[in-house]
Amino acid sequence: MRISARFSALISLFLTCALAPLFAQAPAASGSSYLLLSQDPAFLEKISAFSTTVYSVSRTRLVKLSVPFAGLDPELAAKLRPVSPGEVFNGPAAKGEQKAADPAVLELTSKVDGRRLMGYTEGITMTGKRSASQLDASAASGNRLAMDYIAGAFKDMGYAVERQCYKDRKADKECNVVARRKAAQPGAKSILVIGHMDSVGHENAGADDNASGAAGVLEMARVLTSYSSDHDLVFVTANGEENEMTGSYACVKRMKASGELARVAWAINMDMIAWNRDGIIEIETNKEFSAHADWVGSLARVYTKLQPHIAMPAWGSDHVPFLEAGIPTYLSIEHWEDHTPCYHQACDKLESLFMDYASDIVRLNLAVIAGKARLTPLKP
Ligand SMILES: [Zn+2]
Repeated sequence: MRISARFSALISLFLTCALAPLFAQAPAASGSSYLLLSQDPAFLEKISAFSTTVYSVSRTRLVKLSVPFAGLDPELAAKLRPVSPGEVFNGPAAKGEQKAADPAVLELTSKVDGRRLMGYTEGITMTGKRSASQLDASAASGNRLAMDYIAGAFKDMGYAVERQCYKDRKADKECNVVARRKAAQPGAKSILVIGHMDSVGHENAGADDNASGAAGVLEMARVLTSYSSDHDLVFVTANGEENEMTGSYACVKRMKASGELARVAWAINMDMIAWNRDGIIEIETNKEFSAHADWVGSLARVYTKLQPHIAMPAWGSDHVPFLEAGIPTYLSIEHWEDHTPCYHQACDKLESLFMDYASDIVRLNLAVIAGKARLTPLKP
């Protein structure tokens, strides 16, 4: 880390410690504030030359520019979004009234199997280099092997599997893997669960980011094979998330064109769910869905050991294209304030994962589905 990056990290640490308790809600101030849509260290260093940090709590960082927005390098400008203070929040979810656990939901969440979750995480991590760009290098790339592994796992569970291909690469096609199961009633609303399967491309790495979240999608799909549902279920392992979320944008576009998107009542994203030391989960969405996020937080208190925090506005993962399309969606993610020290590095390996924590996030997201859909256990 170079000096200026260290200096800006110190400033943001100071702001986090000094202001966080006072300003879970962002302070009102004159001039436009911009949400950082990337926390890549190289970007943070570049933008620090043209801005000051005015709010920095965990995932949510705002800056004010010292130069006109129009004068910024377009590459930097693309990673900023103007926000008003009322849109911004990062802190504990509203407490509300503590509800009693529903035995049927406890039965559902008890089916989450941490060893299987680890097995799926390992299966995806150990495919090699999973960057979608690797499909330019070889048709036997890790990205291709991960698509094959995930499609095979969904098929074994009995789901209808689609390779939703949206981009021709030199040696192969770049595709999301989509698994579906229809409700008994035709024309039912659907619930969509997403997590990206690609990585930044280090060999047999990206275990936390995001083999863990893609494995969470598989484990939720597996648990739900024991239930019928009055909603269609759609599970998406997105490709290309690390390349400007190309897979989830393509998924939204494709589903909009086919009419499927209009039936999506609710979507859940898991990205980086397996590294944590303080039990805090961030539930990230946009202001219009903050009540939903608080409701998710209330379920976390009833059905898991997680401490729910709400983060707004949304940035940087596969929930964003769905939110932009008006679908109620949240991201479940490890506490960003203390996220994996191996973020986007070759050391993001299987050995460093916290699978009890990841299992709890999977339990929470199943409890959310149980709160939205009527699930009926199938006879064994
Ligand atoms: Zn990720």
